[in-house]
Amino acid sequence: MKKYLIIFTAAILLYGCSTEMDAVKETTTIAPQEGAQPSNSTARSAGGTVMMQAFYWDCPSGGTWWNTIAAKVADWHNAGVDAIWLPPATKGASGGYSMGYDPFDYFDFGDYNQMGSTETRFGSKSELQNLITTAHNNDLYVIADIVINHNGGGSSEYNPYTGGNTYTNFNPASGMFSRTLLDFHPNNEHASDAGTFGSYPDLCHDKTYVQGWLYNNSNSVAKYYKNTMGFDGWRFDYVAGYAPSVCKNFRDAVGGFAVGELWESAANLDTWTVAADMRAFDFPCYFAMRDALAANDLTKLNADMLFKRKPYNAVTFVSNHDTNEIYNGKMLAYAYILTHEGYPCIFYRDYEEWLDKNKLNNLIWIHNNKASGSTTYLYADNDEYVAKRNGSPGLVVYINNSDSWQQRWVETNWASTVIKDYTGNSTWEPTTQSGKWVQIQAPPHGYTIWSVK
Ligand code: ZN
Ligand code: ZN
Ligand code: CA
Ligand code: ZN
Repeated sequence: MKKYLIIFTAAILLYGCSTEMDAVKETTTIAPQEGAQPSNSTARSAGGTVMMQAFYWDCPSGGTWWNTIAAKVADWHNAGVDAIWLPPATKGASGGYSMGYDPFDYFDFGDYNQMGSTETRFGSKSELQNLITTAHNNDLYVIADIVINHNGGGSSEYNPYTGGNTYTNFNPASGMFSRTLLDFHPNNEHASDAGTFGSYPDLCHDKTYVQGWLYNNSNSVAKYYKNTMGFDGWRFDYVAGYAPSVCKNFRDAVGGFAVGELWESAANLDTWTVAADMRAFDFPCYFAMRDALAANDLTKLNADMLFKRKPYNAVTFVSNHDTNEIYNGKMLAYAYILTHEGYPCIFYRDYEEWLDKNKLNNLIWIHNNKASGSTTYLYADNDEYVAKRNGSPGLVVYINNSDSWQQRWVETNWASTVIKDYTGNSTWEPTTQSGKWVQIQAPPHGYTIWSVK
């Protein structure tokens, strides 16, 4: 990065005549472009376009889900998705009904008869492997959900550290990563770590044995998921429950895209993403959109968010398997995250069931082709919001949450240029003035997104 800046500075000195505007354009061209389409299909990656959360809470049980997703990945690739996030894929305490967040056997992908079933809720190991292969064949990067704060389904044993019995005796059928009370809190090491999840046995990440099975050993969870199963990246569940170094150690063992789930302020997420050396879901962005739309006060979008501090560290979202509180104006929220910085995650039900797929595909296309560069906030009041992206060509997004059409003069980055609304919501094709100002419009409870025609 530094090297490029030096070359670029030298180029300015050589050519001498660059205006400030040219300089901005040049810099954004050589900087890693958030929103750039990966050009080489063999260099599969996440973080370039948009992610799909490929499940929801209580998605159908019965072992059909991996096949359901496998049938959709080609369409998602064509829509501009570059990664899919799968639910925890191994056997949980509630067997064939488990959503995977109560992990019992980290190496049972639906091929051992235990916890009342052989297949997981989502299917068999071979069906999962077929899904991963199909996703890879469609240039999609596959993100595994890693639940390592707590476990479920252990047998009862006497625990001298609690003075009673605890469900901390794990003898999984895979024969891999058996656990006893010493691997959970409280134990001979200490009473607790950063947090527990309900009453589930809380894994102790200070134990060399646990570290070995999770990421250090050659047959660790991290290495088995990466090398044997073919997962490419990691979504860490409930990272409030343990130190950020645990995520960092896991990812360092195998590489890949990584994101953590932490329901905290932008300042805390900023700190956490630096400590864990990975991304985090932008909960402050989610809460700000929810509150702005619910209160009809779009100035709330001026709130502190992770993507405004660290665009590269933020995974933005409108709803997920845990939370779905934006009812009115959900498309406005998607228009917001798909035109702003951060890596947007689309929720399965919004895309496949609840919203207009064509409108989401249009926003994904705009994200992948126009939404680059830094952001300048142009206007906000109770029911209107305007911002621009300063990349090349960049865009201007106009969100209108009022009951009537609105129009407004704004300063763009383009002089004497014909622009148009790439959403098709407005038929205007205005020419910007020599001073870059132009009048744009947006429909009631809708949005327009303008760029060079
Ligand atoms: Zn392709
Ligand atoms: Zn511990
Ligand atoms: Ca914990
Ligand atoms: Zn959660």
